[in-house]
Amino acid sequence: MAKIICVLYDDPVDGYPTSYARDGIPEILKYPDGQTAPTPKAMDFKPGELLGSVSGELGLRKFLEAEGHTLVVTSDKDGENSTLDQELFDAEIVISQPFWPAYMTAERFARAPKLKLIITAGIGSDHTDLQAAMEHGVTVAEVTYSNSNSVAEHVAMMILGLVRNYIPSYDWVIKEGWNIADCVARSYDVEGMHVGTVAAGRIGLRVLRLMKPFGLHLHYLDRHRLPEAIEQELNLTYHDNLKSLTEACDIVTLNCPLHPQTEHMVNAETLKHFKRGAYLINTARGKLCDRDAIVSALESGQLAGYAGDVWFPQPAPRNHPWRTMPHHGMTPHISGTSLSAQTRYAAGTREILECYFSGQPIRQEYLIVEGGKLAGVGAHSYSPGNATGGSEEAARFKK
Ligand code: NAD
Repeated sequence: MAKIICVLYDDPVDGYPTSYARDGIPEILKYPDGQTAPTPKAMDFKPGELLGSVSGELGLRKFLEAEGHTLVVTSDKDGENSTLDQELFDAEIVISQPFWPAYMTAERFARAPKLKLIITAGIGSDHTDLQAAMEHGVTVAEVTYSNSNSVAEHVAMMILGLVRNYIPSYDWVIKEGWNIADCVARSYDVEGMHVGTVAAGRIGLRVLRLMKPFGLHLHYLDRHRLPEAIEQELNLTYHDNLKSLTEACDIVTLNCPLHPQTEHMVNAETLKHFKRGAYLINTARGKLCDRDAIVSALESGQLAGYAGDVWFPQPAPRNHPWRTMPHHGMTPHISGTSLSAQTRYAAGTREILECYFSGQPIRQEYLIVEGGKLAGVGAHSYSPGNATGGSEEAARFKK
């Protein structure tokens, strides 16, 4: 029988919800490329419930305990002697969400000799040292596509919010003002602008599709070129390097995974090639950007705005400069954990566990590492190596 550690974010400060704003969520059976949504044998939760916090338990307890397994659920993951560290010594499976990641560093692998499987409930497995996973023969899987469209919606919202100056204008209402000139002195239309995505995978391509009706010119960069039919349908301009994309675009959105080749790809040097007054939206991973270079670019006006929901590390220290830099539209890491998204990735987590316990193969598209090498989406979208360096700083949030 296995021990499973599930690291989840804390419940709402006023308690786990007893009712919800809506009575349910639309049922999504297939994603745009035809991939089916998760297909577990059963689900012990009602779609639309809060599953990603500690009391939600991703809806897994009944299923796991009925099979005789031990489930430990905690939010205590960082710093000396965290519950995660205390429980690792005999754990077979670790589950966590990128929003509140269990940073599975090489040190933690060394402390977990029985570890066989790490599941990312959601998408993006950079919080696991993938090099260490390969070396220890641990499988890493995520619930591919479960929240890609959720994030793309968030990107579209943030592009419009920044360019149209939504948040400062909202603030004037709260301050009992009617300061139209203050609101519009930084407000533009997106129509006619050039928007470019760094990566046109599931999220990036969806962002391009969502922005097309606003009358923007669409650009992309990816290490895998899209089919010609899609390039023609969306009238896309392809760039084979970041400099060329940023020189052409008014709005840049990052939608690639974090791995050694993409870490700090936006830095003081590469920011010089952005148009003055460009907007940068990053819902992919905080460490794709150099933290201080973003602050400087906003202060100097090289960037007109920066928005996103991803930070490094997570939770972000209380004095993280992105909380207070000018012209930002940051949120905590939420875009991929709407109640709609949670339903899908909780179901996908259960599907992966059902496969694992019954000896069935995990869907190829869910795999990041298997058999000592990158596999599935991991082979397509990542590079070998480790991107967890510096994650111990997450403990500073507690202090
Ligand atoms: P995906 O695998 O469909 O797409 C990733 C794309 O990145 C691929 O097309 C790949 O070729 C491209 N890519 C990888 N390395 C590259 C490089 N060096 N240069 C150019 N392109 C490169 O994944 P997805 O579903 O689109 O998700 C992308 C990422 O978004 C995830 O890995 C994760 O980090 C992030 N994400 C964030 C949230 C959130 O809640 N904010 C939720 C889901 C995913």
